[in-house]
Order: sequence, then structure tokens, then C-alpha cells
Amino acid sequence: MARKQLRDLLRAQLEDGRFRLAQFDPDSTPGLKKRKSLKSDLKSHKTKIFDLQERLFAENKRSLLIVLQAMDTGGKDGTITHVIGNMNPQGVKITDFKAPTPEEKRHGFLWRIRRATPDAGQVGIFNRSHYEDVLVVRVHNLEPPAVIEKRYDLINKFEQELVKENKTTIVKFCLHISYDEQRRRLMDRLANPDKQWKFKENDINERAYWDDYQSAYSIAITRCSTDYAPWYIIPANDKDYRNWAVSRILVETLKDMDPQFPRPKLDVPRLMKRLKP
Ligand code: AMP
Ligand code: MG
Repeated sequence: MARKQLRDLLRAQLEDGRFRLAQFDPDSTPGLKKRKSLKSDLKSHKTKIFDLQERLFAENKRSLLIVLQAMDTGGKDGTITHVIGNMNPQGVKITDFKAPTPEEKRHGFLWRIRRATPDAGQVGIFNRSHYEDVLVVRVHNLEPPAVIEKRYDLINKFEQELVKENKTTIVKFCLHISYDEQRRRLMDRLANPDKQWKFKENDINERAYWDDYQSAYSIAITRCSTDYAPWYIIPANDKDYRNWAVSRILVETLKDMDPQFPRPKLDVPRLMKRLKP
């Protein structure tokens, strides 16, 4: 029997038509059998990801889009370093989304997102994404409720279009940490001179909106978790588990895509003969 996929365990599920982030324990480690093998599993996941990504790149027909969302200190950067870091950089396109620039503000919220989507053969990584336009924007009332309300459907349409027309496979990760864990990580940044560069006082302001963010995430995941672009909830207090889970879901996803090396019709004997010593 095929091994149960981690994707099935961590895919966001609606209950009574709603998803509730608060029900998920950020300390849990679903699907993990032996803690001892975390590190060696991660190594083997990374090798598989490297091999599958090479095939995707060589095939040059389809793409993979990885969306990373999390509260501040949630581990987006660490995930990129430790999971994505092993991919061949030629085939990777990483985009950070910050507060929109004046130019970006003149366009619809998906304008800058469309420009960052991966080309054929590429893996696109969104460090934050179009979901900020229904998360931070909702929490801080940066747009009227009616505008935000329409965005969920616009996001679904956009993602469906990417899947159908661009042959893009989409996986969305919500790295889920606890309120206490965020404090520990912010304290750690303050206490460690080599990490102080990461500290932003604004993170303390945002922390005051914790519950509003949790609820904005729950709404976004309720409205935008679809068969064609699923959300995965990754318990992320434990960084080793987080890397293990994200990398395993990427292996499962890429294996499913089953990218193939092109097999050009070459007259190999003739070409070898031409290659004079
Ligand atoms: P960081 O990822 O820590 O560098 O912070 C980026 C900041 O940009 C975060 O505070 C986000 O909430 C903010 N941001 C990203 N996208 C948007 C958006 N569409 N509207 C407003 N703020 C955003
Ligand atoms: Mg931050």
C-alpha cells in the first residue's frame, strides 16, 4: 500500500464550512514517526527535490509556485534557506512582497503578483504574497471591507488561471507558530547581536493584533483553499519539523507532477563520430 501522504494530513480542511487556525497546535508534529530521523529525512528530501527540480527545469513546460505566509518570525526566511536553498538557483525565482510602492499602488493588487509568477521550467517562491492583501490589509483596514471582500474571489480566479493557462502547480504554506514562540524569537533577536539586524520594532506593534491576524488567516484559508491551489498548515514552533514537513510536501508535489527529461531525437553514433579527439 502506498505510504500515506503528508499532504493529506496537513491540507487545510473546512469544518462546518469554516477553517479555524486556532484549532491547530503549533507544537504538534503530524506524520512524524521518529524524531531521530528528522535530519536524515530532510537530507533525503533535499536530494529528491534537487533531482525533480532539474527535471522540471529541463522539461521547460510547467512550473511550480510555492507561497509562504506566516506571522512575523514565523520562519519564511529559514524555510527558504534550509529547504529551497538546495535547489539549482538557475531555475528558482524568489520574490519578497513588502508594502506596495507608489507605482504598485497605482495598479490592482494582483499586478505585481502576476509579474512575479514563474516561467515554464521555474520554481517560483513567494515570500509573502497576494494574501497580504486580505491579511494585513484586513487587519489594519487599509481598504474598505467591500473591496477586501471581492479579493477572495479574485484570488481564486487568478490562481485557477495560473493552474490552467500557465501549467503552474500551486502549493501554499501557512507556517503556524504560537504567540509565545513569537516572543521567544523576538527576544532571541534582541539578545543576540548577530540577529539584531532582523529585529524590527514594528513587529512589536503588529504582535498586538495577533488575534485579528489569526482570524484574517482563518477567513483567507476558508475562502481560498481549493483543490487546484491547496493551503497546507505547517506547525512551525519546531524548526526541524517545519523544514521536514515543507520539504516532504514539496517532494510529494513534484513527484506527482512527474517532470521528464526531454528525449531529443539524436543520431548519437554520427554525432560521436563528428567529435574528433
Ligand atoms: P518583512 O517581510 O518582515 O520584510 O515585512 C514586510 C512588510 O510588508 C510586512 O509588514 C507586511 O505586512 C507588509 N506588506 C506586504 N504586502 C503588503 C500589502 N499588500 N499591503 C500592505 N503591507 C504589505
Ligand atoms: Mg518581518
